[in-house]
Amino acid sequence: MYLILMGPPGAGKGTQADNIERKYWIPHISTGDMFRTAIRFGTELGLQAKVFLDAGHLVPDELTIGIVRARLAERDCAKGFLLDGFPRNVVQAQALEDILAAWNKKMDAVINIEVPDEVLVPRLSGRRTCSQCGATYHLLFNPPRQDCCCDLCSGALEQRIDDREETVAERLDDYGAQTRPLAEYYAQRGLLRTINGDQSLDKVFEDIVASLR
Ligand SMILES: [Zn+2]
Repeated sequence: MYLILMGPPGAGKGTQADNIERKYWIPHISTGDMFRTAIRFGTELGLQAKVFLDAGHLVPDELTIGIVRARLAERDCAKGFLLDGFPRNVVQAQALEDILAAWNKKMDAVINIEVPDEVLVPRLSGRRTCSQCGATYHLLFNPPRQDCCCDLCSGALEQRIDDREETVAERLDDYGAQTRPLAEYYAQRGLLRTINGDQSLDKVFEDIVASLR
């Protein structure tokens, strides 16, 4: 099974990646993990990537592709893998196709978890922190008794700038702009499996499994 997992922030991608890894016995390979490992082992590509990451930049395509190629050549990927965070654009998708073609392999499916922004925004912007004691809450998942103040000390609850609705909406827009061409690319190849992520985690996983049959 050669799989790619795509989904916006807040779509429960981490949980589904764990589920897929366990059911299909394939390694979950996330770009973040790949970079960390390459840097930890001090590979030449890892050290090059570190320069960009330390400066707060995106790692350029060519470098990312080199690190992915090296990772996919490892033994645990021989029977499949679940890629997460790669490819990020059509250039990377084409490179992945070339890498696999050189090994006489090809992708089986691209799982794209979709959740409407109206559902994601409250999930991603619901976090609150007590300005007095630092206790954390989430308006949906771990709500305080009153929206305004802390259960423990009655301190005022604050929202981080990153969690504000405008910031969250911007992140989701960026994700959408980045993903649309990729989804199209894989749809044209008959690989795209669109999954409704606005359901329970169990149901989402059921749909993923069904889409892979
Ligand atoms: Zn408090």
